[in-house]
Amino acid sequence: MPHSEIFWLCTAFLVGTAVGSLLNVVVFRLPVMVRGENPELTLWSPRSRCPHCHRTIRLLHLIPIFGYLTLRGRCAFCNVPISLQYPLLELTAGLLAVGAAASADSLPQAGAYAILGWGLLALALIDWQTQLLPDLLVYPLLWLGLLVNTYELFAPLHEAVIGAVAGYLSLWLLNHLFYSFRKEAGMGYGDFKMFAVCGAWLGWMILPWVALGASILTLLLWLSRRAWGRAQRTLPFGPALALSLFGFLIWRDSARSLVGWPGL
Ligand SMILES: [Zn+2]
Repeated sequence: MPHSEIFWLCTAFLVGTAVGSLLNVVVFRLPVMVRGENPELTLWSPRSRCPHCHRTIRLLHLIPIFGYLTLRGRCAFCNVPISLQYPLLELTAGLLAVGAAASADSLPQAGAYAILGWGLLALALIDWQTQLLPDLLVYPLLWLGLLVNTYELFAPLHEAVIGAVAGYLSLWLLNHLFYSFRKEAGMGYGDFKMFAVCGAWLGWMILPWVALGASILTLLLWLSRRAWGRAQRTLPFGPALALSLFGFLIWRDSARSLVGWPGL
């Protein structure tokens, strides 16, 4: 592998872990902000604190992954274990950036892969933990999908626009039909917007496949939780939609050759 490529991938990893560090803040604070539980909390202030002893974390310990390792996974002040979620999210964001840099054909495409991957990662985690899909993350991904497709990066623009509208309306309609029979909501408005994001990035024709992929993932998750004897709860649809969208974005060519559906 040429030195320039190694340098490029290492840079991507470092940038990715730094973004992962920001995503940790977003995943932790955004649901609190959306629910209005702490009016003084923003994404930028106050500085990061230990959730147990509330002491401000030193800058050295905020360095992605490295900070966690030097602290051996415990708070420097109160010695309470730090959630493994922090370094894992930073590592995943770093690996996402490396994957995007290695597989994309151009810098804009690598940037698009990485930004979508980071956004979906944060949304999936937030939805899993709080059953929320904040507009502050969903809408930028929706606009970005339409924007990148003005250059037909993943789909022709007219298919992306129709995809965004069809994505939202199809789940909205399905949910209203479900409600008229069961008198309870099967999905939230965040899910409709997430499906609109899928349409904006990949075009309307791929939507049934993304929905099928997400449904299979949710079913597998539900069955595995049941098999392991975990307490059943209403599973959020957002994480499965995020995974399905990203999977189809990456492996669209392989899926197309496998099933030959025109939408792929
Ligand atoms: Zn502490």
